[in-house]
Amino acid sequence: MDTLENTNGLDLLSKAKRVIIKLGSALLINEDGKVNATRIHAISRDVVKLITEGKQVALVSSGAVALGRDALGLSSKSLKLEEKQAAAAAGQLRLMRAWQDAFQEHNIPVAQALLTIDDTETRRRWLNARATLNTLLEAGAVPIVNENDTVATEEIRYGDNDRLAARVSQMIGADVLVLLSDIDGLYTADPRFNDQAKHIPVVTSLSADILAMGGDANADSGVGSGGMATKLEAARIAMTAGCATLIARGDPTDNPTDQPIEAILNGGRSTWFIPPVTPETARKQWLLGAIKPSGKIYVDEGAAIALSKHKSLLHAGVTKVSGQFSRGDGVEILGPDNKPIARGICAYSSDDALKLIGCKSSEIESIVGFKGRPALIHIDDMVTI
Ligand code: GLU
Repeated sequence: MDTLENTNGLDLLSKAKRVIIKLGSALLINEDGKVNATRIHAISRDVVKLITEGKQVALVSSGAVALGRDALGLSSKSLKLEEKQAAAAAGQLRLMRAWQDAFQEHNIPVAQALLTIDDTETRRRWLNARATLNTLLEAGAVPIVNENDTVATEEIRYGDNDRLAARVSQMIGADVLVLLSDIDGLYTADPRFNDQAKHIPVVTSLSADILAMGGDANADSGVGSGGMATKLEAARIAMTAGCATLIARGDPTDNPTDQPIEAILNGGRSTWFIPPVTPETARKQWLLGAIKPSGKIYVDEGAAIALSKHKSLLHAGVTKVSGQFSRGDGVEILGPDNKPIARGICAYSSDDALKLIGCKSSEIESIVGFKGRPALIHIDDMVTI
């Protein structure tokens, strides 16, 4: 098994292929409700450096509601739901413009991805959101994710972008999640009120003692919704997915041109949460342990060999489909001798998979009436046994 024991955080960051950086509202929006363009430029320079090192980077950016408030003149301290939704609609556009301006200087395209909780919690939709984010990252773009606050209501929302960022990290198999806000890591107590509070540089297990440290350690700036408790929850989600989490200040000094990731690489204070396993191992454990197969897919010799060589399962290699399942459900894959050879998440329902037995990818649309994905089960959604 691929474990991460005894690895240090900076090593993980330097080896990471995919990094997600979450930025809190207080960091990006000034107290007067205007965007902090200098800081956005500083962060974009950090991102460009990571990209130059060959990494793929996505951002989860808060700030839409705070920016939209100013744009719409909504000054009341607590906004009604519809006011918040309206503020997000106006602010999101301004937020994206600021990011686009910053990345344009480096010729890097940015792309907006607004997600609702269903996009990460319902597997059928999760497959779609993941495919889009993967495509953007592979095209060299920086996806900028936020919650779709304009349609999300209290009962159907992530609530805070720390958790959203952790779900996105899990979805795209990120190696490192960086939570940048106005606190430089985890302390034994809230350092603003307790001068005995000790900083904790590394956490390898989220014990009850650690979780108890999640008092509301967010700054008193009045914008944004995450506190230390939500950051610990985000770290828990990410760690389960094999993704390391880093909590650090997004404003390492009073100088807004200072780059937060650079400050960490230069020894700046932060807390690393190191998971026990890599994202790859975590994904395999999840596919084998948490996903109950709802159907069986039988494949021919050629397909069995292809799977053993880490290739996706195409319809052409399928000989039989049994059981009733929907797109996004787990299935078992059996070889020509009827023995299980793999488990995976199926990109087609059992009804469509049946119709597509033995077909070429080019025939999919004419048979099922929609332009489906070429693979019945993508290799990223499969574990061979
Ligand atoms: N999605 C919210 C916004 O863009 C922020 C939520 C959060 O800060 O956790 O304003």
